[in-house]
Amino acid sequence: MEGRWEKVSLSKRFIQTPSPQILLVNTAEGGKKNKPKGPFHGHMLEAIGACLDAKSQVIVYQNRKGFVPYIHCDMCGYTPHCVNCDITLTYYKSSGQQRCGYCAHTQPPMQLCPACGSTAVTMKGFGTERIAEELSLIFPAAKIARLDQESIRKRSDFQRVLNGFANGEIDILVGTQLLSKGLDFQNVSLVAVPDADILLNIPDFRNHERAFQQLFQVAGRSGRGPKQGQVMIQSRQTTHPVLQAVLEDDYLGFAAQEIQVRKQFQYPPFSRIIKITIKQKDARKSEEASRYYAQMLRSVLKQRLMGPQAPLVGRVRNYYLQQLMVKMDKKKDDPAKVKELLWSASLKLVTMADFKGTWIDFDVDPA
Ligand SMILES: [Zn+2]
Ligand SMILES: [Zn+2]
Repeated sequence: MEGRWEKVSLSKRFIQTPSPQILLVNTAEGGKKNKPKGPFHGHMLEAIGACLDAKSQVIVYQNRKGFVPYIHCDMCGYTPHCVNCDITLTYYKSSGQQRCGYCAHTQPPMQLCPACGSTAVTMKGFGTERIAEELSLIFPAAKIARLDQESIRKRSDFQRVLNGFANGEIDILVGTQLLSKGLDFQNVSLVAVPDADILLNIPDFRNHERAFQQLFQVAGRSGRGPKQGQVMIQSRQTTHPVLQAVLEDDYLGFAAQEIQVRKQFQYPPFSRIIKITIKQKDARKSEEASRYYAQMLRSVLKQRLMGPQAPLVGRVRNYYLQQLMVKMDKKKDDPAKVKELLWSASLKLVTMADFKGTWIDFDVDPA
């Protein structure tokens, strides 16, 4: 829009078939007949069944690995966390282990609650492993495969699954975002997204952009042959602007709306962001060090400095984290000066006896 590059629009589809039909299913509503069965609303199961009957293929997109994101005690609510990080352990049925996504710590799945001794433990949520297992119970005749980091160890695994899907040896392909891009299969007539809310509820300013991109990309895997495809998305918030934009096939409308929000809050592309993470093995020192560091910066940066605050996962590999964010004004701030300011404040902090063992990470233009 600034005219630095020429804008070229693809306004027509390469494929002659009309764009896939997008359907949003509100999982907060159901009624007796359509009561959700596991992760699937009745409408979605019907659509998958009809697709299999018609001998066409289905892609199920669930951007969550493993069997379940966590195991939970029904009696006292206890959930096993990683010993090194403040995050719940994902359970992988294939390896029979619960594993941390941050430090790779593993332990056997909880069968007896260590807090209250109860054996009433429940698997919560649905990863790709469990989605595939549920589908194999509901559609026992269907051939189901997964495309995620667990099932794909080598590049050849990736090709093998894709070839199998292309040859029709696989009826339903369940996968994470590994399958959202560029795959061109003629016989896919349904893309099912059982839980769009996973994508919508991430607290980050780029979250809406990413959610839209992922849904838009994966939706494009449907109906690439002669038949018009379908895309069915389940969510508890079907009026969400991201889902409405996907429904309306309205990339430009979405971009215009998103750019307004970015401008209002001075997020990129209207600013440049530097994310600073302070790490300390001592929780209290982590807070004190980050407050002191912020004080040094704030006198110059004023309201362009945000934080410190603990990130969503406040402890990783036994380091307590605090984050600060600098929003650099593209016109007014000289990057060299900001760099010098951060450098001198950082040197001062890490050489103070009180804050020995403090680490500072910088992420410029974080993705
Ligand atoms: Zn318990
Ligand atoms: Zn961990």
